[in-house]
Amino acid sequence: MKRVYNFSAGPAVLPVPVLEKAASEMLCYGNSGMSVMEMSHRSKEFKNIIDNAEADLRKLMSIPKNYKVLFLQGGATTQFSMIPLNLFKNKVVDFIHTGAWSKKAIAEAKRYGKVNVLASSEDKNFTYIPNMDNIEISKDADYVHIVQNNTIYGTRITKLPDTKGKILVSDMSSNILSEPINVSDFDLIFAGAQKNIGPAGTTIVIIREDLITDQYQECTPIMLQYKIHADKGSMYNTPPTYGIYICGLVFKHILATGGIEAMYKANLKKANLLYDYLDNSKIFRGTVAKKDRSLMNVTFVSDSEDLNAKFITQAKENNLVNLKGHRSVGGMRASIYNAMPYEGVEALVNFMKKFESENL
Ligand code: PMP
Repeated sequence: MKRVYNFSAGPAVLPVPVLEKAASEMLCYGNSGMSVMEMSHRSKEFKNIIDNAEADLRKLMSIPKNYKVLFLQGGATTQFSMIPLNLFKNKVVDFIHTGAWSKKAIAEAKRYGKVNVLASSEDKNFTYIPNMDNIEISKDADYVHIVQNNTIYGTRITKLPDTKGKILVSDMSSNILSEPINVSDFDLIFAGAQKNIGPAGTTIVIIREDLITDQYQECTPIMLQYKIHADKGSMYNTPPTYGIYICGLVFKHILATGGIEAMYKANLKKANLLYDYLDNSKIFRGTVAKKDRSLMNVTFVSDSEDLNAKFITQAKENNLVNLKGHRSVGGMRASIYNAMPYEGVEALVNFMKKFESENL
């Protein structure tokens, strides 16, 4: 068996010790005599798994007591519907528009109310984070929506907008657990699991308790009501049990290897290695404004489409896979999530240097 360095944007690389642990428990979890996949979600064993996963995530992120943690389904995209359906009162939302994921969320929110775009980086194909210093929060806004890390373009918000006391909603799908954050700077955080947390199919929502009310829009399907999931401990229906189990193993693994601070330190080291190389390369260049560079998704190009294609093909032959940029932007993208080892980025940079010397 040969594992590759997988730079996929998601589903993405997971920590090897987590996969090994899951493999060792595949046929028989503890004394249960069965796989977690075969287990009732109402069983004592599974109750333990989900309770521990929540406790460990709380510990990792220092989630305050007045926030609920929900393990949901439907991906981050379902949150684009769930958030307006649950938080709309005046039916107005302010958006910071930084790419394809805010675009999709805007389109969905517009189905239920009014969207104001307070700042956008669309003029330069989302290669930077727009200045938010002077944005005017709408008086009647129910909340402000940001995408903290823009997976496709490789940008990252480092300075939060001042929402003037309005609810701040953050899509952290591609940066959750990658750097320390103060949960109470936010009112609702959501993330699809399939980048830094676990397999696709589980969605994490961290929501301030007082936002969970029965004041959702009348048309809101039961499955899209935060209240029902919160009241039932994410067990209103059958939750994505195996996914939650893997998420729990990832949380334990991060706790055992130094927590989020250690992840952040390692992520900075990996990103610096790659960006430093890009800044000195004669054939590759990063595509994002330096101040807004993502630590998770590193986007870059050469000056020729042919060279890009050749690079991606040859990289794959060298076990460096999934480096093709998103279909909407082209070029290359190396996603270097928590579970990507430093050696993987080192192997990539070494290969890029060799490719550069051969193609200059
Ligand atoms: N938001 C961001 C920032 C993403 O990167 C993605 C997926 N790549 C999504 C939302 C959509 O997630 P999902 O496919 O889980 O619906």
